[in-house]
Amino acid sequence: MNFSSLGLAAPLLNAIAETGYTAPTAIQCAAIPPALSGADVLGQAQTGSGKTAAFALPLLNALLAARPAGGARKLHALVLAPTRELAAQVGEVLRGLASHLPTPVKVSVAFGGVSINPQMMALRGGTDIMVATPGRLLDLLEHNALKLDETAVLVLDEADKLLDMGFADELARILALLPARRQNLFFSATFPPAVQALADRLLRDPVRVAMPDSDEHAPDIAQRAIEVDEPRRTQLLRTLVKEEGWRQVLVFVATKYASEHVAEKLRRSGVAAEAFHGDFSQGARTSVLGDFRAGKLQVLVATDVAARGIDIVQLPVVVNYDLPRSPADYTHRIGRTGRAGASGLAVSFITSDAEQHFRLIEKRQHISVPRERVAGFEPTAPAKALPPGAHDGTGGIKGKRKSKKDKLREAAAAAAAGKD
Ligand code: AMP
Repeated sequence: MNFSSLGLAAPLLNAIAETGYTAPTAIQCAAIPPALSGADVLGQAQTGSGKTAAFALPLLNALLAARPAGGARKLHALVLAPTRELAAQVGEVLRGLASHLPTPVKVSVAFGGVSINPQMMALRGGTDIMVATPGRLLDLLEHNALKLDETAVLVLDEADKLLDMGFADELARILALLPARRQNLFFSATFPPAVQALADRLLRDPVRVAMPDSDEHAPDIAQRAIEVDEPRRTQLLRTLVKEEGWRQVLVFVATKYASEHVAEKLRRSGVAAEAFHGDFSQGARTSVLGDFRAGKLQVLVATDVAARGIDIVQLPVVVNYDLPRSPADYTHRIGRTGRAGASGLAVSFITSDAEQHFRLIEKRQHISVPRERVAGFEPTAPAKALPPGAHDGTGGIKGKRKSKKDKLREAAAAAAAGKD
């Protein structure tokens, strides 16, 4: 299939050619025609599938037709994204495509962690497309910087992450301000019950695209699981980076402390590495990401929250130094490699403590990854024994459900350890 058969207007075909896309990705083929026709779309799309352009192109197409040159700007589309990086990245894609159009389209981007004043100023005179994180959007609405009552299209990008990150209340408040009659484009990598319920509530007769188990749409990612003792992980990482000739690696760790510590150790052994976590100012994030994108950094050691939305074209390797807490995050993490048709490698370090958790991830994600050992790094610690009466970890641990107190204690410990 090619872009010209999807029903897009000629100026957009030109913009696509200028951007350098030669053929539409699977999600673009499936989502663009129904989105252009005004239908609601429910897309199961991994990061890297080309989902941003799948909704960006129909939004821009409608704007080409809707507004006579010089006409007043009223908000056409609201795109909600869970993190500032994703919001910035979606804004970049929209602006990049819009820059090749004959009609000027204004795309505004807003997220927290930076001063609200420039964002308010930028909204003077209205905007065509607003890309925002939910919290900052509500701040802007409170300041009367924009209105949502005529929004024609709502896009939820990475809806699962929006809910995971606790934005349910903010979402409800925003939805209440949108007109009831509107088009909804809903994208999520995973569909746990809360996400499905939200989709059921929001969408009217949606066209479903690239639903689960459509392997042909899955990016080509080789997955490896290497058993190693916990204290030797940094050394193993350094060895693999050097011996396997990994050009660039995104390493996931559980805490801000680990992010700093591992990056520091790698730097000391001569690897260009940098930490990346939630305490970074927006300026520092942009600068580190810029260095990584430009290839000045070989390794970025990041926490989940910070890494969400990082888009490095053809990132070759992702390493789970610490496993993600939720199985869904495993998919998000490895989706950072193997993007838009490129093949990638995802390596997970499996310590004795992490074995049970990795089995749960495998079960939930319907995968089975053979365990490997690297010569010189064979683990000495036996896999951790299960508590008496427990199952084998592949079906949850019966009788061991955490009490509320346990959870509070864990949350306090995590906060104290500086987790993101
Ligand atoms: P996304 O899933 O939207 O984060 O896109 C992942 C990457 O694929 C981005 O770097 C896009 O620039 C790129 N991309 C999107 N659509 C295409 C396409 N049709 N051809 C080639 N690259 C694309």
